[in-house]
Amino acid sequence: MTEENEVVTEPAATEPVSLEPTPEVDSVLVQLVGVVGKENASDTELERIVYSGDPSSLPQFHYRWKQRYLADYVVRVQTIEEVKGVIGVARNHGIPVIPRGGASSCLGSSSPSRGGISLDLKKMNKVLEVDQAKGMVRVEPGVTFTALDVELGKHGMELGIYPSSAKSAVIGGWIGCGGKAGIGTPCNGTLLDNLVSLKVILPDGSETTIEGANLDLYNGSYGILGVIVEATLAIRRKPASIKTLSYGFSRLEHVCNTMVRVTQLEQKPIYLKIADFDFQSYSNPLEKGKYVLSVTYPEETQSAPVTDIEQAVAESGGTYLGDSYGTKEWDLRYDCEFNPKEHCDTLMFQELWVDVENVYDILKAYEKHKKSHKVPSIWFGMLGTSSMMRLELMAMLNPDKYLEFIASKGILHKMVKRAIKQGGGPYTIGLQNSIYMKKAYPERHSRLKELKKSADPSGIMNPDRVTSCMTSYGRMNILFVMAAAFRRLGKYVAR
Ligand SMILES: Cc1cc2nc3c(=O)[nH]c(=O)nc-3n(C[C@H](O)[C@H](O)[C@H](O)COP(=O)(O)OP(=O)(O)OC[C@H]3O[C@@H](n4cnc5c(N)ncnc54)[C@H](O)[C@@H]3O)c2cc1C
Repeated sequence: MTEENEVVTEPAATEPVSLEPTPEVDSVLVQLVGVVGKENASDTELERIVYSGDPSSLPQFHYRWKQRYLADYVVRVQTIEEVKGVIGVARNHGIPVIPRGGASSCLGSSSPSRGGISLDLKKMNKVLEVDQAKGMVRVEPGVTFTALDVELGKHGMELGIYPSSAKSAVIGGWIGCGGKAGIGTPCNGTLLDNLVSLKVILPDGSETTIEGANLDLYNGSYGILGVIVEATLAIRRKPASIKTLSYGFSRLEHVCNTMVRVTQLEQKPIYLKIADFDFQSYSNPLEKGKYVLSVTYPEETQSAPVTDIEQAVAESGGTYLGDSYGTKEWDLRYDCEFNPKEHCDTLMFQELWVDVENVYDILKAYEKHKKSHKVPSIWFGMLGTSSMMRLELMAMLNPDKYLEFIASKGILHKMVKRAIKQGGGPYTIGLQNSIYMKKAYPERHSRLKELKKSADPSGIMNPDRVTSCMTSYGRMNILFVMAAAFRRLGKYVAR
């Protein structure tokens, strides 16, 4: 009971007490939001996962040797000032920046190896200037090949070179990889041949223009030297129409020899492809056991050197596959490499950069390994320059079969060693092929290493690739040799 006049007070209203610990303010995220706005900076788990891989879908154990393969933050930039701001935040906190275009280069090129900021450049996608008279275009790094083609098409012009991943790749990503082989490169030159200048934000946040001889280092630097924020490239008149000629061959030697002869003709094709029966079965099927050679030329001023090609084909016992087969080959130029992936859990591949004269030797060895190891394997080759080919060797695998997986990697490793011995090497370098950099391209490796040391002393730009590596060639060599040997031994014992 209460006494009269006694003042009864209600208990004071209090905030419900949370049993969760108070989340600490993430100062890096706060600063990134300050640079690019809330909608363009994130640390949600979903975004970090999405931005940390690439289409190669490798099994978890493949990543074991990386320290932290998940990005800590995802940032989408739209302006040069924002790129500078993000690099500033990274520098102040000593965390890595991983530039990212379409992520189609695979091999971990644009995936983190020790956390950090995944820097998405796809929103920087403007075509800034088309100078028809000078035959040049100035673009932001995130412009897609399709958007660029549409814009240049309004002027009757084209870039005239693009990777077969053009549906997902962007121009900055292709420059990051130093594109040497693409549709158009045999006749219009490599990306380096077509680069006029680059605007780059260096790891210290300053802006610089790269021209002349230095372009060679920044083209193909995989984001380790800075962020490309603008590129000026040569353009040319678009051919009114093209024609693809396709031929079938019964023997590997014959398709390779004919391919070499076609590359030696004065007139260079827009696109030249060779592939085996199994590769073709996922896009444009061939008669069982055959190999295909497809060559595309513009139809107007420089029509196909048909007589010379037909003579070379006839001498090798090849046959014409018909106009509609050729048309389909051209129509499928973007999709044929992706198609096999839809038919297996993991499409593990290795891209080689080899002299056309050595393609037969490499493929003969690959086909021999494929038979002895019974690994479902396919291959495809695309001409880069008139003398070098991007040869893609693929294994269609179930990643749960660890030994089969690692043995296939062992076979691909043997192929890289063979290519290096012949003066070639891996094509895309990325994270995974950095172990070969010093052996395959020693001069480039040491020049880039020197530049990296002076430009990025704290190593924040895309670490662990090209000039340094988280594992060593020697270690991987032992692992792969042992894996291949154990598999062979296992098979022998099982027999
Ligand atoms: C199906 C398929 C077909 C392909 N065909 C070809 C082909 O025909 N020819 C060929 O050469 N390659 C080919 N490739 C590999 C090729 O290199 C890439 O597809 C493409 O060039 C990469 O572009 P991207 O935008 O996806 O770059 P990403 O993979 O995102 O990045 C590539 C590298 O560049 C860096 N980078 C990205 N943007 C910048 C920037 N603005 N500044 C600095 N560094 C940056 C990244 O950190 C990374 O190291 C193919 C790949 C696939 C999957």
